[in-house]
Amino acid sequence: MERVCLLGATGSIGSSSLEVLRHNRERYRLVSACAGCNYQKLFEIIKEFNLEAAALYDEEAARQLRALVKEAGLKCEVLSGQEGVCALAGAPHDFTIAAIVGAAGLKPALAALNSGARVGLANKEALVMTGQLFFATAKARQAQVLPIDSEHSAIFQCLTERCQQELGRCDLKAAGVNKILLTGSGGPFRTLPLEELAHVKAAQALCHPTWSMGPKITIDSATMMNKGLEFIEARFLFNARAEDIEIVIHPQSVVHSMVSYQDGAVLAQLGRPDMKTPIARALAYPTRINAAVEPLDFTKLGQLTFFHPDFQRYPCLKLAIEASSAGQGQCVQLNAANECAVQAFLAGRIGYKRISDLCAQVLDKGVPHDFDAHSLEDIFALDAAARRQAQAYLQELA
Ligand code: NDP
Repeated sequence: MERVCLLGATGSIGSSSLEVLRHNRERYRLVSACAGCNYQKLFEIIKEFNLEAAALYDEEAARQLRALVKEAGLKCEVLSGQEGVCALAGAPHDFTIAAIVGAAGLKPALAALNSGARVGLANKEALVMTGQLFFATAKARQAQVLPIDSEHSAIFQCLTERCQQELGRCDLKAAGVNKILLTGSGGPFRTLPLEELAHVKAAQALCHPTWSMGPKITIDSATMMNKGLEFIEARFLFNARAEDIEIVIHPQSVVHSMVSYQDGAVLAQLGRPDMKTPIARALAYPTRINAAVEPLDFTKLGQLTFFHPDFQRYPCLKLAIEASSAGQGQCVQLNAANECAVQAFLAGRIGYKRISDLCAQVLDKGVPHDFDAHSLEDIFALDAAARRQAQAYLQELA
């Protein structure tokens, strides 16, 4: 029986993970889980899976949860605050699913790596912010990282076994790779006339055409910042140069990504747009388990189409590609600025087009000369500075 920890249990990836675990109870036991503030949902999970430990970032929510656990006579330890979340993530587990959204997931993900657990990584922002440091930590602790982001799971599956075993430092050239083809749906505004983008509202941006996901990543998908963050994530995961990766828009989200080889062969991973598949792939690697996902029916698929992205429509994508080449500091700044911008857009404080403007403004501030990409302290200081700059820009707009 493998002992599993689920970080971000109440979210979209959290729910899909619980589904996979429900279908595989003979092999996996969920022993601990955490969330931000949703104590009611976490309480339901504690009851259903008879958790040994749970954690909530929000102290008040944790108090409510403790009361519910006590009232129900359950033996689940409830931790709280960032320390509590990290303590839970850092406890011994066989497998940890890192699915907290945003920069908030970084410390818990690192705590999981430090515990030596196999880590299924959905929280792309953690990798965007730390890249090499993330893999250096994994290597030092002999912790295996397995991608859960669907595109990276697809690429992982299309790569050689050697590359799969050497994530973060694999040699794509030696593996005969010509290019990684990173696909993305293009989001809900792929065909909207460019002049109408300025008037787009959060409710429209939250209607993703193919994937059902949490609010932050859904907005990131509309702006294609999500693909940009994935570009950075792919560079770190697969030790790829910028020119090793090509972004391809594929509106049907059936081909989850591809790897083109030097001999002309192209390997693709196909499936329904359902995160249970990549979660199951990471959890059971190198074996396969039932993820309760209907197989594709090719006779019903219809046309599969592919396009180049248009940077005029998706300026955030361009910013992310540029940041990936500029360095780790710019990736940290971009991630922080984007989180602030998306929050402000969702709250109705700024218009859709201001998301990329705000990110560009923060990137323009530059990275301190003495920034050390291997120092977590420097990374968090730069993240905080970028958030302050983003807030100042938001004040100016108000
Ligand atoms: P959701 O917004 O649906 O869920 C986020 C989860 O993180 C919730 O459980 C939330 O708890 C928890 N959380 C938020 N802040 C904290 C905190 N400070 N400490 C502990 N837990 C916290 O996001 P998604 O599930 O959509 O995405 C999660 C991650 O996975 C993101 O990084 C995203 O980019 C990535 N991803 C998601 C995909 C998807 O299909 N959804 C696909 C590929 C990658 P609470 O509910 O209490 O707020």
